[in-house]
Amino acid sequence: MAGRNLVVISACLLGENTRFDGTIKSSPIVCEIAKYCKVIKICPEVAIGFPVPRPRVFLYDAQGEFKVIQEGTKKDLTKEIENFCINFLTQLPPVDAFILKSKSPSCSPSPTTKFYKDLEGKELIGRTYGIMGRLIPEFFPQIPVIDELSLKGETGLKFLKKLFGSSIPNSILQLLQEQ
Ligand code: SF4
Repeated sequence: MAGRNLVVISACLLGENTRFDGTIKSSPIVCEIAKYCKVIKICPEVAIGFPVPRPRVFLYDAQGEFKVIQEGTKKDLTKEIENFCINFLTQLPPVDAFILKSKSPSCSPSPTTKFYKDLEGKELIGRTYGIMGRLIPEFFPQIPVIDELSLKGETGLKFLKKLFGSSIPNSILQLLQEQ
């Protein structure tokens, strides 16, 4: 079974030093899943040339349109990140699943990313998807997508069944129960 599934994973969840503040935030269960799959690691922000560390980016609600804004400079990086994600998704081979970082303006596949009504990123309005997460259903409508926080309970188990069928490795099931 090893290597059977091809899974796209946010690089920081696998312990890569890609986060804006240079902290490491690997996810034990995602790292364990990766051992049983072929993995395509991706960090959209590093891939387009942002350094580590770098200023934080956040989502700004420009009258219903979400913009990715760099903290401090107020630079609009939306097109840069969006173009990268579209290119990346267009060029992917057939994949079996995506596991992407929650709460990220660039990655999040769940409505967990904060968005703000001001260009300082201080007045929180709500939470929504990141750019990659928002685009995936257009390119891979049938493919399971999850963030690391949802890899627990029934939701996590359902995802793992889609990925591994009835042969979910025990080490992954154990971590699922500890989440
Ligand atoms: S959440 Fe996405 S953009 Fe942010 S460090 Fe992780 S992989 Fe990179």
